[in-house]
Amino acid sequence: MGHIKGLKCRECGREYPIEPIYVCEFCFGPLEVAYDYESIAGAISRKKIESRQQNLWRYKELLPVDGEPQAGLNSGFTPLIKADALAKVLGLDELYIKDDTVVHPTLSFKDRVVSIALTKAKEFGFDTVACASTGNLAHAVSAHGAMAGFKRFIFIPATLEASKIVASLIYGPNLIVVDGNYDEVNRLCSEVANKYRWAFVNINIRPFYAEGSKTLGFEIVEQLGWKAPDNVVVPCASGSLLTKIWKSFREFKDIGILKGLKTKVFAAQAAGCSPISTAIKNDTDAIRPVKPDTIAKSLAIGNPADGFYASRVVRETGGYAEDVTDQEIIDAIKLLAKTEGIFAETAGGVTLAATRKLIESGRLKKDGVTVICITGNGLKTQEALQGHTMKPYHINPNLASFEETLGKIKKGQ
Ligand SMILES: *Cc1c(COP(=O)(O)O)cnc(C)c1O
Ligand SMILES: [Zn+2]
Repeated sequence: MGHIKGLKCRECGREYPIEPIYVCEFCFGPLEVAYDYESIAGAISRKKIESRQQNLWRYKELLPVDGEPQAGLNSGFTPLIKADALAKVLGLDELYIKDDTVVHPTLSFKDRVVSIALTKAKEFGFDTVACASTGNLAHAVSAHGAMAGFKRFIFIPATLEASKIVASLIYGPNLIVVDGNYDEVNRLCSEVANKYRWAFVNINIRPFYAEGSKTLGFEIVEQLGWKAPDNVVVPCASGSLLTKIWKSFREFKDIGILKGLKTKVFAAQAAGCSPISTAIKNDTDAIRPVKPDTIAKSLAIGNPADGFYASRVVRETGGYAEDVTDQEIIDAIKLLAKTEGIFAETAGGVTLAATRKLIESGRLKKDGVTVICITGNGLKTQEALQGHTMKPYHINPNLASFEETLGKIKKGQ
């Protein structure tokens, strides 16, 4: 389409052609897609975007594909919910939830990144796609890969939630369960990716895959009436989503779609896996890897590939970070359900619990517009809640038994 200039090293700036590569040969820095913003500014406008279908491809000029979309034609454009009940509990003036618990078809924001990755994999001519996953990516690659007609190799850590395993297997991929944690799975996949000509969506296709996360940020701006929020809270695994949400705001500003930009970006992690929030709290970009131990398995990356860049965005925008315990995650999942009717997975609990702490410490100001990103659906991580919900009432199939129980309920027993 002529809107993409090539790949560019984030460290030394060296340029590369558009190929399935991800690391600079000279300095080992990560490669990122470079666009021709001048030509893009002339090609799209608010009006043009608004006239398009409500899926993530409405921002196609700012996505790294040349031809027609090959995946995700019904993905994206999830609701931005004005969360007044939750705002009241938190003491915030104006709060919105970006609700990616309902992305089509696999109910997490990974539908976004996979839509771009698989479209690019088709353009590159691959017939097999693969990934190293903390769960949601496995689900999304399995589903979109089936629809797009790819052979699929999905690598996951053995500790994954049962529902994410079933949700992936149903699409018939080759599911490889590795006895190790995510960071070990990822290391293995780097070796496999060197040997086989497969499109590993989060390894050799990563520069393209990661751009898909920008669509979440574009949607927030459009759905706020073409304004960026004052605060945005983002859960971090590798840190890629956070950096790309910031990039989406900046791009909209650069091409003139957004007038002002003074958003503070906040990072949310689990206390049992907090390499990024720890760095931010210590006022450094240096990420110290950890061994994850948290119920927030989709965020359990101990050695985050984009941690350095995520911490830099947070520090440069005047945001901050928080990490939260398993109990705080569970309490936040319940609070979100009770106030807004949204059942989030553990990552959503992390985001809300961290937001709460950021408000309490005064890091996140109560005035202004705050958006929190809820990135995955609670039906996928139900075992985390076992023993933490209300109990159902068991009765016999007759009115007397029901009324006996009703009496107890009324008495508050
Ligand atoms: C993958 C994932 C994230 C964060 O991903 P990054 O690696 O930081 O881009 C957040 N929430 C959920 C539910 C996820 O599956
Ligand atoms: Zn370089």
